[in-house]
Amino acid sequence: MNPNEIDIHKELKKYFGFGQFKGLQEQVIKSILNQQNTFVIMPTGGGKSLCYQLPALVQEGTAIVVSPLIALMKNQVDAIRSLSSENGIAHVLNSSLTKTEIAQVKKDITSGLTKLLYVAPESLTKEEYVNFLKNVTISFVAIDEAHCISEWGHDFRPEYRNLKHIIKQLGDVPIIGLTATATPKVQEDILKNLDMTDAATFKASFNRPNLYYEVRTKTKNIESDIIRFIKQHKGKSGIIYCLSRKKVEAIAEVLQVNGISAVPYHAGLDAKTRARHQDMFLMEDVDVVVATIAFGMGIDKPDVRFVIHHDIPKSLESYYQETGRAGRDGGEGHCLAYYSYKDVEKLEKFMSGKPVAEQEIGFALLQEVVAYAETSMSRRKFLLHYFGEEFDDVTGEGADMDDNIRNPKTKIEAKDQVVK
Ligand code: ADP
Ligand code: MG
Repeated sequence: MNPNEIDIHKELKKYFGFGQFKGLQEQVIKSILNQQNTFVIMPTGGGKSLCYQLPALVQEGTAIVVSPLIALMKNQVDAIRSLSSENGIAHVLNSSLTKTEIAQVKKDITSGLTKLLYVAPESLTKEEYVNFLKNVTISFVAIDEAHCISEWGHDFRPEYRNLKHIIKQLGDVPIIGLTATATPKVQEDILKNLDMTDAATFKASFNRPNLYYEVRTKTKNIESDIIRFIKQHKGKSGIIYCLSRKKVEAIAEVLQVNGISAVPYHAGLDAKTRARHQDMFLMEDVDVVVATIAFGMGIDKPDVRFVIHHDIPKSLESYYQETGRAGRDGGEGHCLAYYSYKDVEKLEKFMSGKPVAEQEIGFALLQEVVAYAETSMSRRKFLLHYFGEEFDDVTGEGADMDDNIRNPKTKIEAKDQVVK
């Protein structure tokens, strides 16, 4: 079908029940319908999935969606199926399928029923699947979480490096890369690795004007400082990130002893306990989750009012993602990080066991965190600059929402030191 003849607003309403596109969605969808390689950079929650789901649903053939997490793929497939009366409209192809299930998936694709086929990158390397996909109509290949292709991203996955090679075997199909990782270095890596420097690029702003950024020096009084902070935000939901499981347990206990309803969350807890603690947080049976970075992926609680980093994060990218879980509803979101140079040294020591190339990247990313913590300029400007975005720290949206702007550090001028 001629892409210009598709009424995408009508399709949006019909499939998703939404009256309007969000942000750059409409432009992105038009680009995809025009068979162009397309690159989408939008913050988490920006609505990236719909950018490829809608074109897939209205076009001929099957769109292949590469995504790194099986759980997220399953969620998306369930969501798409609920929009349609046909189960076969979306499928996941992975190693856990039985022979019968695989046969059904193939049948639905061949008959033209399947519009979206989700695959993990490692499944896509299987010759059997590639040979099958070579002979069916593919509308496009969408690569979600495309930053996984880059060593400079926060979640490098070597399997992503093979994707271009495999896609080439499928013929001349457009590629859509999507990510919430905004650093120019990662973007460059993605475009280069997917061999699509010609891609139409759509980048949304990463500014979160309702988030307040603050850094405090970490002292031995940190625990009472955190308790005071939480008591000032009584009854509000918040997340506290710690580097180690041990710290998570210790802080959760200190909070509980001080009458704050808090639960721990880390990968060392069994799956049942983790699920229970997560649910307690989502259902507001507890106010605070104390967690390692294992917590947060795919969690969408709109009214998280504060995110505290007990220990500094390993990159500004992670910091942005983790603090981004605050204030999703547009309301207040206080992002407080505790900083001490000792923690930096600790992180560096952790990294010293890793391969040299990885270490160098790790150190460089960490230095940016140090610069952020130590800066006296607008933190928002600093963060956005890191993501390659200009920000006017006087007139920009949210310009006064950080400690450096509200309480400028008094500079010790040379003249003040002159003994009179
Ligand atoms: P991302 O992948 O960018 O993090 P998602 O694709 O998961 O974001 O979408 C985030 C949320 O936005 C979802 O709940 C989705 O239903 C919603 N959403 C997407 N597009 C629209 C729209 N046009 N109108 C209203 N809500 C939307
Ligand atoms: Mg997404």
